[in-house]
Amino acid sequence: MRLKGKNALVTGSSRGIGRGIAIRFAQEGANVAINYVGSARAAEETLAAVTAHGVRGVILPADVGSVDDVRRLVDEASAALGPLDILVNNAGIEKHAPFWDVSEQDYDKVIDINLKGAFFATQAMVRHLRSGGRPGRIINISSVHEDLPFPNFAAYCASKGALRMLTRNLAVELGPLGIAVNNIAPGAIETPINTALLNDPRKLGALLNQIPLSRLGQPEDVAGLAVFLAGDEAAYVTGSTFVVDGGLSVNYQEQ
Ligand code: NAP
Repeated sequence: MRLKGKNALVTGSSRGIGRGIAIRFAQEGANVAINYVGSARAAEETLAAVTAHGVRGVILPADVGSVDDVRRLVDEASAALGPLDILVNNAGIEKHAPFWDVSEQDYDKVIDINLKGAFFATQAMVRHLRSGGRPGRIINISSVHEDLPFPNFAAYCASKGALRMLTRNLAVELGPLGIAVNNIAPGAIETPINTALLNDPRKLGALLNQIPLSRLGQPEDVAGLAVFLAGDEAAYVTGSTFVVDGGLSVNYQEQ
């Protein structure tokens, strides 16, 4: 077990990639705080899968787009599990619109959840770690679109590009505290965020043609890397983005 006795908070872990990470962490012996914003029932399913591995789990609703909520989330997670070791900033959304039609409301939502949420959750985690004089790991779930253009998703790309720079900046600033910060950049992973794509055979076929490993990724594909970055084997790894995309980003053209 690579994370035995560690305490982890995974934002947005009711579904999709976050759920996959929460379950995989539990499999490796970590206690997990599960966060969601609307899907209470899905969070219960994640909790059942987590505790089936004999570790402790807790469900903590919070909107990561709210600074008050993320501060409370870190407090409640540590109160429930004990001092935290690992934060995974996974919660994220995307909104489709041509650039010239993007509303202020949608822009704010994407940036607040994907970027501001990760920023202030990390700040709350760092304050928590500093107060105990302990090291820690921060893992951001970015996207291949931190680097790769994605027409009609300008705010999403801006949020993920900013996450890339935030990761690099914090690796430098937090390194002396023993806190490592890394990004995982998934490609096309089969989760509810991609429901429209999964229901469009033409787009899906075109995408699959561009993935050298010829399949969509699964949350488990991302979770394996998260376990590595959270564990002892990654002790000397910080400030990097790790792409998990079946080769998509070295072979990609927007349709
Ligand atoms: P998903 O299936 O839509 O799940 C999103 C998760 O985030 C859910 O647990 C959701 O909670 C939570 N969430 C959304 N808004 C939130 C908020 N305001 N506060 C707290 N939690 C919130 O998405 P996913 O595909 O797993 O994506 C997870 C992360 O991976 C995102 O950051 C996404 O950008 C990134 N990513 C995904 C892909 C992909 O192809 N799937 C590729 C690259 C990057 P509720 O269930 O309560 O709504």
